[in-house]
Amino acid sequence: MATDQESEKGSDKEWQNSLTAEQFYVLRQKGTEAPFTGKYNDFHQKGFFVCAACGNSLFSSDDKYDSGSGWPSFTKPVDSANIDTRQDTSHNMLRTEALCTKCGSHLGHVFEDGPGELGQRWCINSVSLEFMPKSPSEEET
Ligand code: FE
Repeated sequence: MATDQESEKGSDKEWQNSLTAEQFYVLRQKGTEAPFTGKYNDFHQKGFFVCAACGNSLFSSDDKYDSGSGWPSFTKPVDSANIDTRQDTSHNMLRTEALCTKCGSHLGHVFEDGPGELGQRWCINSVSLEFMPKSPSEEET
């Protein structure tokens, strides 16, 4: 039997089996995709963005905007309970890391220079997200 030190959020080996190499690098090893390369940077469909690792609902297209940074950017999470933040001092920078509360995966960072009423810019890797179109019953018009 496997003797990995299992945590409830899964071992590296389990994540490597369920994620692509790029997803594993960003989500589980806190990597960053190159700017202007992600599939959701220049992306304008209406719907929801969920965690690519566990499906937790993270962001709505209603809160997505073009920050010019090269990464998908949002003014707020769909529910603040779904995203954890923690101080990140890696790469000689003081930043606030954003993580999925459900699976602990790295999503990106949040900065205080956003345009919304909260003044936040959630700078998120496309690799960390999966797009889910709204169902017809959720359309308002
Ligand atoms: Fe997750």
